[in-house]
Amino acid sequence: MKATKYRPYILRNYNDLPQLNALADEEREAIGVVGQVLPFKSNNYVVEQLIDWNDVPDDPIFTLTFPRKEMLSKANYRAVKRLLDEKDELGLKRKVCEIRMRLNPNPAGQKRNVPTVKGVKFHGMQHKYRETVLFFPSQGQTCHAYCTFCFRWPQFSGMNELKFAMKEADLLHKYLLKHPAVTDVLFTGGDPLTVNASVLASYIEPLLNKEFNHVRTIRIGTKTLAYWPYRFLTDKDADELITLFEKVKKAGKHLAFQAHFNHPVELRTDAVKKAIERIENSGAQIRTQSPLLRKINNDACIWADMWREQVNLGLIPYYMFVVRDTGARAFFEVSLERAWNVFRRAYRSVSGVCRTVRGPSMSANPGKIQVLGITEVKGEKVFVLRFLQCRNPNLVDIPFFAKYDGKATWFDQLEPAFGETEFFFERGNLIGKNGRDEEVSWE
Ligand SMILES: *Cc1c(COP(=O)(O)O)cnc(C)c1O
Repeated sequence: MKATKYRPYILRNYNDLPQLNALADEEREAIGVVGQVLPFKSNNYVVEQLIDWNDVPDDPIFTLTFPRKEMLSKANYRAVKRLLDEKDELGLKRKVCEIRMRLNPNPAGQKRNVPTVKGVKFHGMQHKYRETVLFFPSQGQTCHAYCTFCFRWPQFSGMNELKFAMKEADLLHKYLLKHPAVTDVLFTGGDPLTVNASVLASYIEPLLNKEFNHVRTIRIGTKTLAYWPYRFLTDKDADELITLFEKVKKAGKHLAFQAHFNHPVELRTDAVKKAIERIENSGAQIRTQSPLLRKINNDACIWADMWREQVNLGLIPYYMFVVRDTGARAFFEVSLERAWNVFRRAYRSVSGVCRTVRGPSMSANPGKIQVLGITEVKGEKVFVLRFLQCRNPNLVDIPFFAKYDGKATWFDQLEPAFGETEFFFERGNLIGKNGRDEEVSWE
């Protein structure tokens, strides 16, 4: 296969794209305005092979990487545009910063769950659930293209203090040695597969030694398969990367890809199919996840097709998420009721092999909360919920109820059902201060 050179399209050069002539002037302008606030990056693979330019701006993959006017409020859009027109750099910087801070850059306590060892905080790591540690390689705080809905957007927009980056693999390894309950290390970012193979190996290979026997699964959270499959095919260190995956398998451990796919179109190119085949041949398994997004995949047929095509390619459908309360959320969000309806209509239309998927799930402060459904109990309409993951593992899988609210889009808008004043997990400090303020410590 001939190598394809990676070409990013960002604020500086997107105007060179001839494809953008398909847009109205206003839509073109919006890329430059909204792109000041929300990070913008697309690339030649996305532009040439995923986007259907006959269908812009409504094309789902266009909406997935190119900013659109409605992603900012009207007032914010006008303000940014005016400062741009006036070439008021300082004013623009200030305004952009102010808008970003109001877009809830740090949802669901991401800055919490940062472990402490001997009084020193390890930024670059999160340990929210007992078995699983998240690690953010400092070189991997970028992606091959940026999703407009992404909740990690502050990491790409120069809001440096929000970066979790951790320089030394050494700290990760020391932490894991002290925590034998950890079975899974999840490399995330950004996208850890923007890091070159030898750096990645310096994090992963030590974990294959006997002293890390408790670490059974190495997970890689990545959008690279969907946005740059050549990473596994023709990039300079593609072979070295595949060899690293093989080493994990040979050491008797599981290499699990948590791959982001938001639309079935991302599964249909020759390049992605070949990349999937190569990864699978290395012994790794690929699980898939995506949030439900208005204007991108807000339709049961899209999800059913996506899950079917994934299983057909050997992938395992894993999570459907509710879009997080950050960034351009207002543009993408759907009600929890709608999310459940999309999920169940898709779920009931596929066979059992696709029903490994769970959702719709909200990654909220206390944990991952799944909407099991809407029903009526003694005349009261309620949401039935459960924890798929919880900071307190004893609370997982216990059904609980919230008052029905057809407009609610996130857990914090829900109230307990049956006139109760608290959810069951808020009683008796089961999670710790309602799961909101507590630093988690698994010491
Ligand atoms: C989802 C998630 C994980 C992984 O959870 P699994 O259910 O085991 O896939 C780990 N850490 C955080 C913070 C998460 O949100």
